[in-house]
Amino acid sequence: MSSVNIPPPECMLRPLEVPYRYLFGPGPSNVPPRILAAGARPIIGHLHTEMYEIMNDIKRGIQYAFQTNNHMTLAMSGSGHTAMECAVFNTVEPGESVLVSINGVWGERVAEIAERMGAKVHTMVKSPGGYFTTEEIEKALAKHKPVLFFLTHGESSAGLAHPVDNVGDLCLRHNCLFLVDSVASLGASPLLMDQQKIDILYTGSQKALNAPPGTAPISFNERACHKMFNRKIKPVSYLLDMTHLSNYWVRMHVLYHHTGPVSGFFALRESLAILAEKGLENSWRQHREVAEYLWKGIEDLGLKLFIKDKDLRLPSVTTIAIPDGYDWKELLAYMMKHHQVEMTGGLGPSIGMVIRVGLMGYNCSKFNADKALTALADALKHCPKRRG
Ligand code: PMP
Repeated sequence: MSSVNIPPPECMLRPLEVPYRYLFGPGPSNVPPRILAAGARPIIGHLHTEMYEIMNDIKRGIQYAFQTNNHMTLAMSGSGHTAMECAVFNTVEPGESVLVSINGVWGERVAEIAERMGAKVHTMVKSPGGYFTTEEIEKALAKHKPVLFFLTHGESSAGLAHPVDNVGDLCLRHNCLFLVDSVASLGASPLLMDQQKIDILYTGSQKALNAPPGTAPISFNERACHKMFNRKIKPVSYLLDMTHLSNYWVRMHVLYHHTGPVSGFFALRESLAILAEKGLENSWRQHREVAEYLWKGIEDLGLKLFIKDKDLRLPSVTTIAIPDGYDWKELLAYMMKHHQVEMTGGLGPSIGMVIRVGLMGYNCSKFNADKALTALADALKHCPKRRG
């Protein structure tokens, strides 16, 4: 006979407390009431007819957001990394060559993911904020003959919107799949999956889409499907195996594979509905206008933007060069303490180089840009300047 000898923890006997924060970092962003309410609807079974209708809505919503007619379009149960791993695990077999462009942290992550599953990984590396010309990409494709080329469209660790035009054509010519990460850019910066010949595209729910973190739209075109459904060996992950996921999402066989995050899908459905109602072009325009307003405000404070060329700046996540003499951690802590405003430092190779300000979707307004600028100005005034 066993008895309970570990008492209930005291913290569990207190009510949950969650402060309100202005999430002006690179994500997650604040979730509007309509999406929060969608996530709070009563749960239904993940294989119920009504759930499949909602999943169908999600698919149509993603097809619109991605500008694709791909049938193989779905939402992953998991964050952006889940979609990243799903794309690599399914389209690459051990020993195959993969080319990854690295100009911030996301390429580093994909290179590691591909390496872990046994791919032969080749990298093209620039310092954070750098970008790759089509000539550089073509040279590397010709040299390494990869089956997959990875590019981050919205490099949120550096604040760069990487040009995508013509890269799809290059990949097609070199018989290579073109994989693009749009976690930080979807809905904020123009991207047209079919027209730009992107073979695999994924994003996350928690940035410009404004849903809670935990679901990740992804789409594969026919070329990508051909590669992943004609493999010699099964993908390393059972959970992320597209054979199973396509039965669940695309063929809609009522067969159990895993339990989808029902509330997360309700919220994602509503976030995609909001984007469809607003219209992609309006959303892109809004992000650009607010970003330009923010950029001017930052320069008026005497600060420098990290990405010099306006046309290469990511409108959803702005990077500010850390001002001389300041400790960036103190600036961030001051804004959090006195303004409940979250901004963040760099990530991976951009740590110590930048402060990142994200105004995405619901948060993307001149009102919030002013709020962010007020917090920044106040932090610059009150935080000690040590050097310079
Ligand atoms: N790619 C980019 C460009 C991102 O900004 C992020 C999230 N910061 C990710 C991938 C990873 O997404 P997640 O944190 O949802 O796994």
